[in-house]
Amino acid sequence: MTARTEKAEYLASYAAQLPVLHPAGQRRLRCAHVHVSGTGRIGGSVALAMAASGIGHVSANDPQDMEAENLGAFALARRDDLGKPKVDVLSRLLSGRPHFEFVPLVLPAESAASEECLGKSDLILSCANTLEARLAAERIAVLCRKPILQVAAFDGRSRLGGLITVRLPQNGWTACFGCLANKSVIERGEGLLSTVTWSLAGIASTMAVQILTGQHSSFIRKHNLFFIDLETYGIEALALQRRSDCTVCGAARRGRRKGGQ
Ligand SMILES: [Zn+2]
Repeated sequence: MTARTEKAEYLASYAAQLPVLHPAGQRRLRCAHVHVSGTGRIGGSVALAMAASGIGHVSANDPQDMEAENLGAFALARRDDLGKPKVDVLSRLLSGRPHFEFVPLVLPAESAASEECLGKSDLILSCANTLEARLAAERIAVLCRKPILQVAAFDGRSRLGGLITVRLPQNGWTACFGCLANKSVIERGEGLLSTVTWSLAGIASTMAVQILTGQHSSFIRKHNLFFIDLETYGIEALALQRRSDCTVCGAARRGRRKGGQ
């Protein structure tokens, strides 16, 4: 297949998106590298949605193996995937997909290889189930000036929905996840509906496409905290300023200055 035929085949695969994103926007997705930190219920769905949008290069890190409780949410997983790393299961699901490369890392976000991958990406989607992993991803994003989205579900026993934070490097005034985070925000809920986590993954993935292509992105660029209520079906968007004493964006910014950048 010649390079020209191969490019035409790629665009044909995403024909339905072209009236919205235009060929230039779709090509931006193909050239983009997105990193997904944590591939549980939300992150696993995000990785699949990124592939479906036409992103050319997705990397993902998660140190955990597929357990019985994950089989329900991973709709395409099989019984013999039990005990295998979640990122390797994703790798199998996505293998052979044309115009697409997936790099699995069986590692936490707080590891040198993950941090290198995070730093090289064009956009980070953080969906980890520990506060430490989320803060590690946010620190790298601030330091390396990468857009980052943190996606978290509420405990479904209290309410259905979740929140998404967005930090864009050009919006230095906005609160990072570290400015906003407290343990209760991402504490593992006992009640999680798979349809809710799929919905949150879908909304965050749409935001990622908007940011990467610049299409329909003016609203999202002015806000950094989104509450998604899946009982009243509303999204509340806020624009919150950063905390001057934040140990994540404050320390990273000070580090950059010390490094002479
Ligand atoms: Zn901060």
